Amino acid sequence: KLVSREFHPEPTVVDVDGVKIGDGSLVVMAGPCAVESREQLLEAAQIVRAAGAQFLRGGAYKPRTSPYAFQGLEQEGLEYLAEARALTGLKVVTEVTNIHAIETVSRYADMLQIGARNMQNFHLLKEIGRSGKPVLLKRGLAATYDEWLHAAEYIVNEGNPNVVFCERGIRTFETYTRNTLDLGAIGVIKRLSHLPIIVDPSHGTGKWHMVKSMSMAAVAAGADGLMIEVHPDPERALSDGPQSLNPFNYASLMADVRELAVFL
Ligand code: PEP
Ligand code: MN
Repeated sequence: KLVSREFHPEPTVVDVDGVKIGDGSLVVMAGPCAVESREQLLEAAQIVRAAGAQFLRGGAYKPRTSPYAFQGLEQEGLEYLAEARALTGLKVVTEVTNIHAIETVSRYADMLQIGARNMQNFHLLKEIGRSGKPVLLKRGLAATYDEWLHAAEYIVNEGNPNVVFCERGIRTFETYTRNTLDLGAIGVIKRLSHLPIIVDPSHGTGKWHMVKSMSMAAVAAGADGLMIEVHPDPERALSDGPQSLNPFNYASLMADVRELAVFL
């Protein structure tokens, strides 16, 4: 298989417009769950930039459990992301939820995110495989490693080798946490595949107070990067406030992660 270590023994470094993922450095993607307004996004971008991340994240198309919940600003949100990139120099990673949005999102983003709910949307995987854009492939809500690796295979098989895995927790019997973050995925994916893997402890736990410790653990376990939800005012967030870090806690996380990375 194209994504397997047997086929390609050396680790793949994914280059997103100059930012390298999988080269031994730690890449941080941070920002709000959803782009909510121009003001909110630009403020979040400044916070993220100041603490030293490489990517700004933020959903313009939001796959929400309830149809009555905030669904995202769509194209307007993409425009704010592009404006934030121009102001800060941060790369932009944002989710594509369906094939019709691929072209539009590709015009504004540096990296396309496939969300957990779409990990086995094979038609979407194939279409994204035909676009040349780097892809962040989140683990499905209850996906095995084998299913996740095969999802990546769909993309690479269409001619796009720039795939990065993102462990974001899986559904288990535990209910205190939103998901159970599976840090074992780092070692397994690195053994079975040459592609990089990052960790999202925000969706992986659903609790802001667990995000720092799980980030440290992910870095110690060899993750190539982190995806962290940060909001200027988490209590007012339109989505995922309980797992979002405020500016102070995000800066504190980044300081500790940097200190840890010195020892690696
Ligand atoms: C997200 O990162 O915005 C998101 C919706 O995450 P997931 O697909 O992992 O639930
Ligand atoms: Mn979210």
